[in-house]
Amino acid sequence: MKMQKVALVVLMLALLITGGAGAQMRYHDIRPGYGVTELRWLSDYLPVLRNTPGDTPVYVLQGEQPGGSMLVLGGTHGDEIAGIMAATWMVERLSVQAGTIFVIPRANNSASTHHAANRSPYIELETASGTRRFAYGTRLTNPLHQAPDPATYVHPAGRAAAGSEARNLNRVHPGKADGTLTEQISFAIMELIRNEKIDVAFDLHEAGPASRLANMIVSNPKSVNYAAEGLLIMELETNLTLKLEVSSGEFDGLSHREWGDQTQAEAILLETPNPGQSSANNVDVVNDSQYPLATRVATHLLTVQAIVSSWNGANPGKKIVWESMPTFEEFHSKPLGYFYND
Ligand SMILES: [Zn+2]
Repeated sequence: MKMQKVALVVLMLALLITGGAGAQMRYHDIRPGYGVTELRWLSDYLPVLRNTPGDTPVYVLQGEQPGGSMLVLGGTHGDEIAGIMAATWMVERLSVQAGTIFVIPRANNSASTHHAANRSPYIELETASGTRRFAYGTRLTNPLHQAPDPATYVHPAGRAAAGSEARNLNRVHPGKADGTLTEQISFAIMELIRNEKIDVAFDLHEAGPASRLANMIVSNPKSVNYAAEGLLIMELETNLTLKLEVSSGEFDGLSHREWGDQTQAEAILLETPNPGQSSANNVDVVNDSQYPLATRVATHLLTVQAIVSSWNGANPGKKIVWESMPTFEEFHSKPLGYFYND
């Protein structure tokens, strides 16, 4: 009995070490710019999340003019770094003129507290003040924060998936107030969308370069006109070829499906190609020659801008307007760190 206890303590210590000092990390290197008018927390929308690894900052950027409201999530999956860095760019550099934008750079904060064995736990960008580090996590909620996985994860809509998908934020929407940590994060995001009357919601992702999802816009059926016009604008303004897909019923619990079906929000998910999402070792997810992070961050940001410009055209009384972002070419004209605060 005693030996078992000792073994258990040793096991728990080992788990803690694997989780690293960042296991509770909620304070990432994000340096809000003048555009941020208020700092909130996801737990403001579901208080039980307070002081848990699932809590995460919600940055509010309110323009001087009235207008529509918008939500941008990065980090639904903690290893999809371009979405995280696009959302972080908005917090640091976006200047909103009309409407209100809510930005959550680390939507599943727990997923950014652990990392795959063959990946560095962070990326680095060089800025005028020196090197900045940004956590590079994994796809799923940290098992230290939610365990054990069920043998099979069954979404309330009825479909079964692998047990580990219980920790996949983009399989558990619309979440549950008294559910698992991942379901609570999802539920708090839904509460934000409902309470803040979000008009347009974006979920920024990445996929392996070989995945059919790479460079794709996935749109709730009701939002497809905005997504399609946004795609045309992007193809005119950049050398990118993007694909457009309407939410399929392939999985339950997807953001673009559940947000759009269950709330007033237009719901759109974007995917860029991340060379880190493959089994290869020694991948440089920042400076890859074919898929550099600068291209992927610019793709996210400018696609959001293009889709919102289409939405503004159809909703002239509720425009969401900001000072133009750098162009696709400008994002490539200097090292990416130049576009962040120092
Ligand atoms: Zn993803």
